Amino acid sequence: MAAETVFGKIISGEIPTTFLAETDRVVAFPDINPQAPVHILVIPKSTEYANVTELAAGDPTLLAEMVAVAKQLAAEHANGEYRLIFNNGASVGQTVFHVHAHIIANLEERSLVGF
Ligand code: 5GP
Repeated sequence: MAAETVFGKIISGEIPTTFLAETDRVVAFPDINPQAPVHILVIPKSTEYANVTELAAGDPTLLAEMVAVAKQLAAEHANGEYRLIFNNGASVGQTVFHVHAHIIANLEERSLVGF
């Protein structure tokens, strides 16, 4: 079980957030500190999974739903191409321990280095 996080507060409405996409089990919203022209977070509404490893083992269908939402958002906000980043652990940059995918798109050529 993931500990209470800022994303749990976004899902509960405690932190008001405009959702760019929502399904029964997934929401997406802009990252508050964007690292690319398109930088959107996709998260499950469930607070059960702290990272993608736990999610893949526990509910692969939910992981697939997150990817489907990412595909849809990349078509709406970019040219359909996107990077999908899951930081998995503090030492590789994970700061929020509620599983989330970063959708990164509309990058300039060679701007991938360092992120
Ligand atoms: P991580 O480093 O855990 O992979 O990514 C967490 C992301 O959540 C960061 O990119 C950070 O900017 C974003 N973030 C943290 N707090 C908030 C918030 O309150 N609202 C939104 N929209 N994004 C947040």
